Amino acid sequence: MAGYKTHIAGALLFCGFLYMFPFWDPLPWPGKTACVLIAVFFGLWPDVDTKSKGQLIFLTIFVVVDSILILRREFERAAYLGLLIVLPVMARHRGWTHQWLAMLLIPAGLFLIALKYSGASPHDLLPYLLAALLGYASHLVIDRF
Ligand SMILES: [Zn+2]
Repeated sequence: MAGYKTHIAGALLFCGFLYMFPFWDPLPWPGKTACVLIAVFFGLWPDVDTKSKGQLIFLTIFVVVDSILILRREFERAAYLGLLIVLPVMARHRGWTHQWLAMLLIPAGLFLIALKYSGASPHDLLPYLLAALLGYASHLVIDRF
């Protein structure tokens, strides 16, 4: 089983494919940095279903975001987020989080949510979607070996 360092290295390597797209050069450095962080996050995310660094990072982010929602008295959003977080933790290791369909659906779902709430155009958010897909794909490819 590949460790988190291998998955981070794989996600960074897969980030290299972003250079092939025409949007990469004009993207400002904060956007490029965000792409790399998103790829690394999704390179670790599938192992949220087992005790791992990815799970620790993911659950830490969840606790911070959920605490902020509770402090802002947005209890309904906090409850839905809590429900969504439990699903991968309850799954068996290398279950649905390690499926190619999940690799497409999870980043695409987040892309649609970001489109709805940010007001940005699909073209603006495309680099981040591709970064998520590449990071996720790197995890699945590495786990095959
Ligand atoms: Zn894995």
